[in-house]
Amino acid sequence: MAKSDIMTIDDILEKAGQYLTEEDTAFIRQAFEFAEQAHADQFRKSGEPYIIHPVQVAGILTELEMDAETIAGGFLHDVVEDTDVSIESIEEAFNHEVAMLVDGVTKLGKIKYKSKEAIQAENHRKMFVAMAKDIRVILIKLADRLHNMRTLKHLPPEKQRRISNETLEIFAPLAHRLGISTIKWELEDTALRYLNPQQYYRIVQLMKQKRDQRESYIEEVMNEVSQQLKEMNIDADLSGRPKHLYSIYRKMMKQNKQFNEIYDLLAVRILVNSIKDCYAVLGIIHTCWKPMPGRFKDYIAMPKPNLYQSLHTTVIGPKGDPLEVQIRTKEMHDIAEYGIAAHWAYKEGKRVNNDKKSFEEKLTWFREILDWQNDTHDAEEFMESLKVDLFSDMVYVFTPKGDVIELPSGSVPLDFAYKIHTEIGNKTIGAKINGKMEPLDYQLKNGDIIEVMTSKHSYGPSQDWLKITQTSQAKNKIKQFFKKQRREENIIKGKEAVDKEIRDLSFEPKDVLTQENLERVYEKFNFSNEEDMYAAVGYQGITAALISTRLTDKLRKSKEKQDLEQTIEEVKTEVKNKKPQKRDSGVKVEGVDNLLVRLSKCCNPVPGDRIVGYITKGRGVSVHRADCPNAQTEEAKQRFLHVDWEDNRTDQKQYHVDLEISGYDRRGLVNEVLQAVNETKTNITYVNGRSDRNKMAFIQITILIHNTGHLRKIVERIKQITDVYTVTRTLQ
Ligand code: MN
Repeated sequence: MAKSDIMTIDDILEKAGQYLTEEDTAFIRQAFEFAEQAHADQFRKSGEPYIIHPVQVAGILTELEMDAETIAGGFLHDVVEDTDVSIESIEEAFNHEVAMLVDGVTKLGKIKYKSKEAIQAENHRKMFVAMAKDIRVILIKLADRLHNMRTLKHLPPEKQRRISNETLEIFAPLAHRLGISTIKWELEDTALRYLNPQQYYRIVQLMKQKRDQRESYIEEVMNEVSQQLKEMNIDADLSGRPKHLYSIYRKMMKQNKQFNEIYDLLAVRILVNSIKDCYAVLGIIHTCWKPMPGRFKDYIAMPKPNLYQSLHTTVIGPKGDPLEVQIRTKEMHDIAEYGIAAHWAYKEGKRVNNDKKSFEEKLTWFREILDWQNDTHDAEEFMESLKVDLFSDMVYVFTPKGDVIELPSGSVPLDFAYKIHTEIGNKTIGAKINGKMEPLDYQLKNGDIIEVMTSKHSYGPSQDWLKITQTSQAKNKIKQFFKKQRREENIIKGKEAVDKEIRDLSFEPKDVLTQENLERVYEKFNFSNEEDMYAAVGYQGITAALISTRLTDKLRKSKEKQDLEQTIEEVKTEVKNKKPQKRDSGVKVEGVDNLLVRLSKCCNPVPGDRIVGYITKGRGVSVHRADCPNAQTEEAKQRFLHVDWEDNRTDQKQYHVDLEISGYDRRGLVNEVLQAVNETKTNITYVNGRSDRNKMAFIQITILIHNTGHLRKIVERIKQITDVYTVTRTLQ
């Protein structure tokens, strides 16, 4: 492949005719004609008709002896991007395979690469491979890039540098890893010319100066080897190994060496017919000259991951200088030059079958080759990723800054966010894909540019995120968030809430939160420990009030009972200590004096009440409240006497009154009722209380009062107590 040669369509058809069928060659011609028509009236930066570019690309692919579809793809690779022709019309005019190849190249063209650190370059390469899906798309892209590098001089310097950088970081390594060293060297040397012209031309100069000297030296070596080979009856091609500027440049930079110190400046390559001959030639070389220790490499027994096979040795040459020798078969040499492309051709016996099945077989074969390859870590890693990316499911997407992030296919923006940083993941509230808002379960596609929207005020991950995320990394971090960060927060929050609630119930947390009590309550609510219970309160899965009520229920009951018993005891003592009342009803009976008057016990009338009286056998006059049911009987009505209260009494006679107070059953209610009565300086002669299932409390008290005015005051006072619903004067 000489750089300066411009291939014509006839050159290509002739070359293709050497290894493809007539039918295939016609197919290729058709692709050329299609492309020529599509690109008519278009010109390159150089001023040449545009079609020259796709023709050169197809030409490079023909030199690699690629199949007809790939060469057609080479002709058509810029048609969709640069003209009105659609993928569909290519599929119609040719076939699905060609359309797929063109589509792949078009998509790769959209990836923008900014020079970054090595890891980013590697990710870009992987993205290329993943997006290509078919290795032939990469081969077309490499041919495309090669011709663009050859014509780089027509672009402005800034573009030259950018494209050269991209070539060194993405395309040359891809060519190397696919074993296509001819393309690799040319890409590297050309890139160097634009990136470091000073060094490039210096090396060119030095090589020129040394050339005569070197060439005569190599000739001397080759003569001697040829002699020996003839004696051994081994058929071989000998050549001085071509020098690659970039590899010399890299060695000088890396090993900090002068131009003269680079060994393989002096190198011979020997091509033979069989592996047996390879080792025979090695023996001859090592007999003629002394091998340098540690420089022998057997890449025949242990091929490089990119399929390269050869014997390498360095000996002390005739003039005492190190001399590198490479020995390999012609087939190995083809693979060394054309890599995966050569394998393609050899495997198919130089005749490529178009059907889908044979393509699948090729992929299987490719995978097998990858499987048994094992070399340096880096190479191994690449092959591993190549395998994964080509044959399984990864997706490569961009950060807004142009970094490539690798994720399993099916990943969503949240996977991306967590891959960037846990905190970004936790605070994600939305995502823009290629500048447009998309839902968080949007499935990422190769080449998407993702901008994660975050908020400081985000509540953190939601449980749904566990379902939509794809990567275990994201899932683990979400779970961690729930389990750890938020949990600790919630435990603290929950405990504080429970403590406060306990204090509101007039208890001290330390009295309430005994181990025994906690255990009883968290088991009751089906938690496995107190922390789980507090955490649940923290995230409001259960209220602090409910937990606290449960925690204090025992203490509360015993305290209330105690309080009530104490109060009743006190009242009893008080009543006992009082002097018995003088028997004086304070009621006058109209027209009758000195009648025995008894205030009935059933309704306890007091001055101010409307009263009625009737005579009972042997017990004098019985006085009832006018509304007392016992005064409504027929018998009573027949014996009514008119009765009334005595006016202006000064002895402050006291009367019993029964009251029933109903209210919400809470701690301290009884006390407050009794206290309210006491405040009115009223004596209490009886207290009783009960409560029902609906948390209703019923308190019965008997008090001693002077009159209904006095009673009203007391009733009003009791009604003011919080949680008291009714105060009723009761009948016995
Ligand atoms: Mn192109």
